[in-house]
Amino acid sequence: PKPVVAIVGRPNVGKSTLFNRLAGERIAIVEDKPGITRDRIYSKAQWLDRNFHIIDTGGIEVGDEDEILMRIREQAELAIDEAHVIIFLVDGLTGLTPADQEVAEILRRSKKPVILAVNKLDDPSKLHNRFDFYELGFGEPIPISAGHGTGLGDLLDEVIKHF
Ligand code: GDP
Ligand code: MG
Repeated sequence: PKPVVAIVGRPNVGKSTLFNRLAGERIAIVEDKPGITRDRIYSKAQWLDRNFHIIDTGGIEVGDEDEILMRIREQAELAIDEAHVIIFLVDGLTGLTPADQEVAEILRRSKKPVILAVNKLDDPSKLHNRFDFYELGFGEPIPISAGHGTGLGDLLDEVIKHF
């Protein structure tokens, strides 16, 4: 079986944008409970000679703050169950938020390898923003722009080290 890589993070950090960048052929949209945003989208992906599957988590985030936090937790836990490696995505323009801390706490409890990627660093002058995320405790934050497609090679190099 191919390794599974899940993209996890609070809403709006760019998970689906990153997924679409990395995705080859889409496999399925899995919705296991109507009304609850537990749907995950799976795709095949490849980096160098390594083939793997990626999961986009999150779906459409609606509801009040408590509901969204509950779904963030639920998604992070599902990803931990299914994935071999987790890409923890944060937003380098917004900076660190309490919802990021919430995700971090769940991921820390897992035994799975977590790669921290700081998205939306399109502008080279903002690259230093990644250092704000060191305090999450997942090692060196990797700067990327899912929108522009930069930094993805460095990110995937780290990911495939854990296969
Ligand atoms: P998700 O909720 O985590 O899946 O986030 P989306 O992929 O839906 O993206 C949320 C918003 O961030 C959208 O408006 C995207 O266009 C924007 N976005 C995603 N990646 C980037 C990026 O690298 N740079 C910038 N500037 N915006 C981005
Ligand atoms: Mg999304």
